[in-house]
Amino acid sequence: MADRRGFATADRPIRAAATHDFGPTVRLDAAASSESNANPTIPRLGTESGRGSRRTRSARMPDDQGMDAFEHLEAAEAIVRAGARLGARGLIVAAEGNLSIRLGDQLLVTPSGFRKDELSVGDLLLVPLDPDEPSGSGAEPTHGDGHGQPSPQGTGSRPSSDIAVHRAVYRARPDVRAVAHAHLAASLGLTIAGERPNPDDLPETRLLLPRLPFVPLLPMGSPQIAAAVAAALTEEPEPFATAVLQERHGAVTVGDTLEAAVNRLELVDLLCRVRRDALLIEASRRAR
Ligand SMILES: [Zn+2]
Repeated sequence: MADRRGFATADRPIRAAATHDFGPTVRLDAAASSESNANPTIPRLGTESGRGSRRTRSARMPDDQGMDAFEHLEAAEAIVRAGARLGARGLIVAAEGNLSIRLGDQLLVTPSGFRKDELSVGDLLLVPLDPDEPSGSGAEPTHGDGHGQPSPQGTGSRPSSDIAVHRAVYRARPDVRAVAHAHLAASLGLTIAGERPNPDDLPETRLLLPRLPFVPLLPMGSPQIAAAVAAALTEEPEPFATAVLQERHGAVTVGDTLEAAVNRLELVDLLCRVRRDALLIEASRRAR
């Protein structure tokens, strides 16, 4: 059965799967329902690669935990759209970047080692907000996200190693519903050169991105960088910042929707590109 908008509903079986690193990771695989594929009003989801289904352990969505499967699928589709948008804008390359949405006391996150602009709903992973939550999970992850390699075939997907940052942000900011991260190229160059763009430089970023705190280089995925980003996003005065610039590591942005967080990533990128261009023009003038 589908709801009036044609999405799967809670009474539609949705396979969930495999646990890995950080707790009871669940993989969405709506396409596992042959019924949905037979109904032209139901979008085919998670069929692009079939990666999920091969490693899928038959289970039901966690609606026994009160999770609303409709909300869950909407979030998954929002992540897929956001990844495609970041790719279309040239803001991510290879397997860089990561995205998440808060769903109650769980997070729907992008997997490590996958291109974020070619994701299917079935690639996404559900992890607990609290990493100490009891689970049947396996070992802690190696460093992943866009910084690592795809998990070996057959070992299952891992959530981004930056999941520590996402968790720290959600714990520190109850108002935040979504987190986005990308290695914005212009920001990498500026921070390597010791430059820090100022949102006051542009009317739009002054209005929409009034603060851009800076976090110095720290090991990716470490508790230190997670704490530093969360602290930057809760630094007084209110309203708190919605974006953080990381030295040589792009930006982390937040929002009450993933679209809002991705909009802020684009604004940080714009600000950095404009600042870079201004520096180049100034240098050119001096050299004349
Ligand atoms: Zn990163």
